[in-house]
Amino acid sequence: PLATDPKFTRYLTEEEEKKIKATSESHEFGTEVPRLMNLIINSVYKNKEVFLRELISNASDALDKLRHLALQDPTVMADEPNFEIKISSDPGNRLLVIRDTGIGMTKQQLLENLGTIAKSGTADYLKHLEKQKATAAADGESAVNDLIGQFGVGFYSAFLVADKVSFTSKHPSEDKQYVWTSTGGGAYTIHEDLPENDIGRGSMITLHFKDSETEYLDQSRLEGLVQKHSSFINFPIYLWTKSS
Ligand code: ADP
Ligand code: MG
Repeated sequence: PLATDPKFTRYLTEEEEKKIKATSESHEFGTEVPRLMNLIINSVYKNKEVFLRELISNASDALDKLRHLALQDPTVMADEPNFEIKISSDPGNRLLVIRDTGIGMTKQQLLENLGTIAKSGTADYLKHLEKQKATAAADGESAVNDLIGQFGVGFYSAFLVADKVSFTSKHPSEDKQYVWTSTGGGAYTIHEDLPENDIGRGSMITLHFKDSETEYLDQSRLEGLVQKHSSFINFPIYLWTKSS
């Protein structure tokens, strides 16, 4: 286990891995996703640290959405009374887990939100970026970085530091919880999670770090990043590091 809270996260047994594989569906990303990922990853993007800000901001958005929903329907709070964000790192296994008790996503929402780019204007933005990159002298590169900075890199920035990402999510409207997994590239998988892994409500994102980026798993580095980029988040953020 990574954290003091036993429900927070644990590793799967081989048996469980097998069960999951049997129900796993493969999907291809919408055409714009690999383009955006490639740009983010290959654009000599220096501020890799923004991945944490992006994931925390998504967690915060999800908690805001839950708060709105709970005003109309307090029963959505039933399985989990807290509004919080928990981050835990396990440097020995190169893992970082970001858990929020926000609104979560249904299976359909995982497919739509993490499989395509739903935002309007993205196609234009991509064209613009690719043009800048084509003329990529030193100036071109910083222009690309500026643009990425302005637009917000979003969820896919996880692939700046991770070679494998899984996104477990449970929405109040569904009894089941689903897991989205990808190693970048052109495809991802979705499977129904085992009942014993139930997170109650919200999302749990697990990043398996690239060998070259493990500095971000360090407790003080994480603390610094949370303070630097996420000090205005209106929900408590808890941080754990597993000592080796
Ligand atoms: P943006 O936040 O600008 O919409 P992102 O790429 O960061 O773009 O996220 C894409 C979408 O995925 C979000 O709009 C949201 O619907 C969904 N999402 C991402 N993270 C979470 C989360 N922790 N909980 C619930 N939904 C999420
Ligand atoms: Mg976002």
